[in-house]
Amino acid sequence: MNSINTRFTEVSNSIQTACQQCNRSPESVQLLAVSKTKPATAIRELYHLGQRDFGENYLQEALSKQQELADLPDLVWHFIGPIQSNKTRDIAQSFQWVHSLDREKVARRLSEQRPAHLPPLNVLIQVNIDDEQSKSGVHPDAIAALADFIVQQPQLQLRGLMTIPAAQVSDQQQQQSLQAMQRLFSQLASQYSTVDTLSMGMSNDLTEAIAAGSTLVRIGTALFGARTT
Ligand SMILES: *Cc1c(COP(=O)(O)O)cnc(C)c1O
Repeated sequence: MNSINTRFTEVSNSIQTACQQCNRSPESVQLLAVSKTKPATAIRELYHLGQRDFGENYLQEALSKQQELADLPDLVWHFIGPIQSNKTRDIAQSFQWVHSLDREKVARRLSEQRPAHLPPLNVLIQVNIDDEQSKSGVHPDAIAALADFIVQQPQLQLRGLMTIPAAQVSDQQQQQSLQAMQRLFSQLASQYSTVDTLSMGMSNDLTEAIAAGSTLVRIGTALFGARTT
């Protein structure tokens, strides 16, 4: 049995079922395969099953996998981890998407360091929707100002919002947070025509996130198996 193959089918089916339950087209939800801590060989396997978008959290690890996979021309790399401002140059050069943008300084550096021959970097504002001390992301009240700053950066393209809701809360609390994100997202989309992406939902809450309007789910464990490191 090929487990990545089986898991890929299961995840694709879960997305399809979740979409059916809320009358959405399955094409309206994109799958991002979160490959942190997993080897390049696993990415290659998923690539051959048709997956193109991969998410990484750790820069050095991502760069070395990108080198190993340089023969695959059309991979799309998303940086989804916390960003230290001294790492922006490599991120600006080696990724097509950043999901974890939460401050002006990093936005300015990413734009300045994005090579001129590449299209603008697609960025999402990370929102700390449950106001957790330990988490990155802006407070909902700060989205508007950061968005306004981002759209003035020539080498950035504002595409939407990303969130990691609090774990271990009641179903009701979870639903409230997801729906709050949905409202913040439609507000932003009505203001900026480039905004089309709500990055929300992981292995454990994919169905609820899709019901709340997610357009991109970030799936690690359900695709690659549990992370041991
Ligand atoms: C690790 C990670 C994921 C994937 O989580 P799973 O529960 O393994 O699906 C998604 N988003 C971010 C930001 C992550 O760090």
